[in-house]
Amino acid sequence: MKRVLITGAAGFLGSHLCDRFIKEGYYVIGMDNLITGDLKNIEHLFKLKEFEFYHHDVSKFIHVPGQLDYILHFASPASPIDYLKIPIQTLKVSSLGTHNVLGLAKVKGARVLVASTSEVYGDPHVHPQTEDYWGNVNPVGPRGCYDEAKRFMEALTMAYHNAHGLETRIIRIFNTYGPRMRLNDGRVLPAFIGQALRGEDLTMFGDGSQTRSFCYVDDLVEGIYRLLLSDHSLPVNIGNPSEITIKEFGEEILKLTRAKQKLISLPLPKDDPKQRQPDISKAREILGWEPKVSRAEGLKITYDYFRSLSSDDLNKVEHRTFNK
Ligand code: UDP
Repeated sequence: MKRVLITGAAGFLGSHLCDRFIKEGYYVIGMDNLITGDLKNIEHLFKLKEFEFYHHDVSKFIHVPGQLDYILHFASPASPIDYLKIPIQTLKVSSLGTHNVLGLAKVKGARVLVASTSEVYGDPHVHPQTEDYWGNVNPVGPRGCYDEAKRFMEALTMAYHNAHGLETRIIRIFNTYGPRMRLNDGRVLPAFIGQALRGEDLTMFGDGSQTRSFCYVDDLVEGIYRLLLSDHSLPVNIGNPSEITIKEFGEEILKLTRAKQKLISLPLPKDDPKQRQPDISKAREILGWEPKVSRAEGLKITYDYFRSLSSDDLNKVEHRTFNK
């Protein structure tokens, strides 16, 4: 049985990856320090003999006994509300944490896939974003702690690949959504659906003309799985190229939830990227991958998930700080 270590296992993406690798017949070791992850996301796995969980911070030395075939490094705060609150942990997990993960992989002879992000492109001047674009990132702005940590992570991963011949994979993940997203993580989709369910107006930042491209989580997981098993060590974008303005997105959520409220405009946070759309030619060519789930289908599943949460969860709201 192949053994895979998944860091950030209790998070949104990590928990879906645990499910997928269990389904594929792997032995899964999940690791999380639970700063932003939630054990509820993986509690259904605890009864399985193919699953074990380590409550551990990967920024500290990692010890895992026995063989490891693959490591997926998905531990990191990933929403602006989180990394504004815990910027130092955000920097540490993708720098020190990545170093520990790569060191462990070297000792075990394991292949590593690290979760990078479209944020490495910053507020992009190239549209749609191709992997060979180097980006436009403000290192000292509010997103700097996340963007630069992920850029460092990519550089360190390539260095281990080149200097030690380690088998490495780098995925650049674009906005992804689905069940198990935290309702209060401040990102636009849970924010809008939460507001619709609570009977509040939807808080659109700026005039809503900024764009994003939303990928359903099952499509993303399929892309990750294919990239891990491929032999491609340079970064690959995975995301859904279907681009939409935040204003249109808010209108879609109002329609879906049949909410009677309206969109209201709040100030645009500093360094908020104006446009984002993945160029997925490389994923198509190398992995034979492209997204299958339409936004209409994905949003319906995600809305049903949020509706099933308790009113306690629904009312735990955190507000974003602006222009810091
Ligand atoms: N946004 C918004 N209202 C909210 C939360 C976010 O209009 O309540 C906007 C935000 O300014 C950004 C987009 O939605 O332009 C996506 O934000 P998110 O935090 O989800 O992720 P990002 O892609 O910016 O990292």
